[in-house]
Amino acid sequence: MPGSVSSSVAPVLFKAGCPECQARFELSAGSLRLAIGASRRTTFYSFTCPECGSAVRKPAGERIVELLTGGGVRTLRLYSTV
Ligand SMILES: [Zn+2]
Repeated sequence: MPGSVSSSVAPVLFKAGCPECQARFELSAGSLRLAIGASRRTTFYSFTCPECGSAVRKPAGERIVELLTGGGVRTLRLYSTV
């Protein structure tokens, strides 16, 4: 038996690419932000490129939203849920 099994959540890395400098890298959940709007057009995720410092914003489809929220990415809801 292995000594111990950690109960903490394993850090999840998300692969991303920068459209500005074409760099490819992996980002931790803390480096990403997800904004969920009322429609798909206003649902996107954003991050700062570690290579060139550009603020990158990309549209997030349903699968990406699930992936990011499941990975602990901070989520900002741009509409009110009543
Ligand atoms: Zn870049």
